[in-house]
Amino acid sequence: MGMFDWYEPAGVDECPLCRSLLGGWQGKEGPCGLYVFRQGHRIPIEQRVDPGSRGLDSVMLASRLPEGTCEIYCECERGHDWSALATVRDGVWTDTRLTLRTYPHGHAPARWRMALEVLSIAPRAIVACPECADGELAVEDAPDPSGITMRWARCARCRAVDATPVE
Ligand SMILES: [Zn+2]
Ligand SMILES: [Zn+2]
Repeated sequence: MGMFDWYEPAGVDECPLCRSLLGGWQGKEGPCGLYVFRQGHRIPIEQRVDPGSRGLDSVMLASRLPEGTCEIYCECERGHDWSALATVRDGVWTDTRLTLRTYPHGHAPARWRMALEVLSIAPRAIVACPECADGELAVEDAPDPSGITMRWARCARCRAVDATPVE
């Protein structure tokens, strides 16, 4: 029927870079019935179509996101592209991690710069590791060996680490 579904992640409603509205997340790895999936829920909360082309309620109520992760995308009002991984466990969408896949062109150093920038603007954003694209980055401000205070981002999964001076 549709080509994609709509997604409503929890706690990711503004662009980490410009703070404009971040909505209209879409993904193609679910049932692709123009359903609206909301984080924390097991089944779609609605089907976003004209009343005339609505499917059967029983079909909607049987629709699920696949176990594991699915990638979702959106663009903020000022044109910053974002992608995120939605994690689904036991049929429930449990968490969402921003990935930096769309920034820019797949070079890890550029993704690290973007990750550190996002985390300095929005310290509570959940950002996926630029190296393994899966682990969640933890941030901490601490001095480096020469005594300069740095903001360290460390992957809980692959242990990759990068740092930028704190201004
Ligand atoms: Zn933005
Ligand atoms: Zn990693």
